Amino acid sequence: MKRPAPLPLPLAQAPAPAAAAKPRPGFPARLPAGAPAPVARNPQQPRPPLRTVTAPAAAPVAARVPVAPAAVRVPVAPARPSGVGMESQAVRAAMVRKIQAQGVTHPGVLAALQAVERHRFVDSALVNQAYEDTSLPIGLGQTISKPGVVARMLELLCNGRTEKLGRVLEIGTGCGYQAALISHLAREVYSIERLKGLHEKSRENLRWFRLSNLHLLFGDGMLGYAKGAPYAAIIAAAGGNQIPQAWIDQLAVGGRLVAPAVNASGGQQLVVIDKTASGIVRSELEAVLFVPLKSGIA
Ligand code: SAH
Repeated sequence: MKRPAPLPLPLAQAPAPAAAAKPRPGFPARLPAGAPAPVARNPQQPRPPLRTVTAPAAAPVAARVPVAPAAVRVPVAPARPSGVGMESQAVRAAMVRKIQAQGVTHPGVLAALQAVERHRFVDSALVNQAYEDTSLPIGLGQTISKPGVVARMLELLCNGRTEKLGRVLEIGTGCGYQAALISHLAREVYSIERLKGLHEKSRENLRWFRLSNLHLLFGDGMLGYAKGAPYAAIIAAAGGNQIPQAWIDQLAVGGRLVAPAVNASGGQQLVVIDKTASGIVRSELEAVLFVPLKSGIA
């Protein structure tokens, strides 16, 4: 079998020799368990009820460093356990190679998949599955899409061009993962979510990434977002019976829309709509499985 061409992007870095010598912590790496630092208690105050406390990411680790002689410099605890970053980079590289093997070749799409940490968009209990090619629950009955399908749709959206897209509209922010990928591929991104809970969750998830070209909107994406129109590209992560007319109206001439839609036999199919100077060109591609596109907000 032909091996996939090497990725045109920095992939897994060789582990530092020290890290290679000892076994790496599992992914995600866990903080070492230890007794919490003793805290002076005012005997006048009632004793707080006992509860299980998860160690906050960094500070207690530094506080627990044992009796270091004055001359020895105690290393400052990193913001996150060390190892997570590099390890997730390697796991992500493996995910990207699998997606490449499925036929995705667009360098910008592959670079975005390598750059965006998918594990930051799923609940901690699912972090170990974050780089599998699978959809995962994100709450409120919704799912983060399969990375392979996301990659396929983004490649279609780029339409063979390697330069950045202009303004892009995404319908169905969900947890924000795909929005983060698009922000690497476009100059400006508007992403709409109809569920308030997920709109807020995506805002929290995305804060870490500081993507200044990404605008999150709460509303009914079936209406599109006329204020940002016309769009160079529109992508939906939820499938309805039809492609809403508002999306087609808000697409720029020369622009492309990629969305799942229900077909005559009741299944979902990927639909690509190109808006040309002489009209709409609609192509129907492979079967897909997305959550339903719903109207209104909740
Ligand atoms: N791209 C997302 C996928 C989320 S699933 C991700 O990477 O996580 C699809 C999302 O579409 C769901 O959150 C669902 O609530 C939302 N959705 C469905 N109909 C919608 C509508 N009319 N407007 C906006 N969002 C909608």
